[in-house]
Amino acid sequence: MNVLVINSGSSSIKYLLLDMRTESVLCSGAVERIGEAAGVVTHKIAPGTDREDKISLAQPIPDHEEGMHLVIGLITDADKGVVKSVDEIEAVGHRIVQGGDTFSASCRVDDHVVEELAKLIPLAPVHNPGHLAGIRVARAMMPKVPQVTVFDTVFHQTMPPRAFMYALPYELYEELKVRRYGFHGTSHAYVTKEAARFLGKPAEQVNLITVHLGNGSSMCCVQNGKSIDTSMGLTPLEGLIMGTRCGDTDLAIYPLLGAAKGLSIEEINDLTNKQSGFKGICGRNDMRDIHEAVAQGDTKAKLALDMFGYRNRKYIGSYVAVLGRVDAIVFTAGIGENDPVARELSCRGLEHLGIRLDRDRNLAPVRGARDIATSDSPVRVLVIPTNEELEIARQTVGVLQAQ
Ligand code: AMP
Repeated sequence: MNVLVINSGSSSIKYLLLDMRTESVLCSGAVERIGEAAGVVTHKIAPGTDREDKISLAQPIPDHEEGMHLVIGLITDADKGVVKSVDEIEAVGHRIVQGGDTFSASCRVDDHVVEELAKLIPLAPVHNPGHLAGIRVARAMMPKVPQVTVFDTVFHQTMPPRAFMYALPYELYEELKVRRYGFHGTSHAYVTKEAARFLGKPAEQVNLITVHLGNGSSMCCVQNGKSIDTSMGLTPLEGLIMGTRCGDTDLAIYPLLGAAKGLSIEEINDLTNKQSGFKGICGRNDMRDIHEAVAQGDTKAKLALDMFGYRNRKYIGSYVAVLGRVDAIVFTAGIGENDPVARELSCRGLEHLGIRLDRDRNLAPVRGARDIATSDSPVRVLVIPTNEELEIARQTVGVLQAQ
């Protein structure tokens, strides 16, 4: 089955076509800057094969409809395409950031699903309108192709109320659905299953702390294969220190900023989401730049790294306390997979919790799933490359096969 994975945002459509018989990528790409004067199209064919090719185009892309036409045109192009017609696209999987507590599983798209997604816009004003635009044009262009929504929030729908409620007036939960949802669910779900496989255990029996460290970062406390807590909350702002997001702070800071600096709610939103985190502390949001700055003696970059490690250790410690028995800490995403210093900082001093990182295994320039704990470590420390698109395609196939 060929599955087209679509990640449609407010101004971009990213896509990946997979042949799910072999779980191999046929092509991938993006149309970006939709609605701007200068749009950008990139299309990569069968990466890693003898047909490997890359196309970049610059042209205006007025709306999602035109963007999706370009995507389908490239995929089915006689010369640059990988399938002959849309009939060879057998399913579409849409990545959706916020499914609220309406959606507790991936599901096939119908008019009711679209209506429910529209109702969730107040919880995800930045993301859900772009997702809906992508669904609308994909359904119109491929009316016979089954479409499935896969949500970043679904994996965390197993959190108990004690973990997902905020200690705010209960009416806010009832009226506005103000609660913790958690994000990066496709990544946490994928690495949970891969880690279980690596450990040789059924997924329903593993207790893990999955640590997704990328530009956005989150941790998940996994008991018997299910999320029972996670660091992100109502939005992806809560929790760990990230590239440009502050993570946990005292909310009383914001009225203070409003009073002292006259900042509006929009400006505070921008400050906490786009100007904070590593960028706010040391002016850089990319981890590689931070290491370079530390090497040159930049004390603020060093402080940012210290704060990052400390916050990560606090979260790991709290999840160990909740779980009792932990099979493994699982690092994933751009920083988690590639940065031994970040992993070492996240595990430093946690030997008393049974977490013993092996220095050489951590530093070894190895790719792929691996164990970087000492042989005698009671808790394994794994690095598992994440693959959110493959997880979306797998769930898409799963939903359609279950029908
Ligand atoms: P992601 O959001 O998963 O794409 O991750 C982006 C983050 O991963 C950025 O902060 C990058 O600096 C970081 N990253 C990617 N490759 C490396 C690497 N080789 N070493 C350290 N950090 C990396």
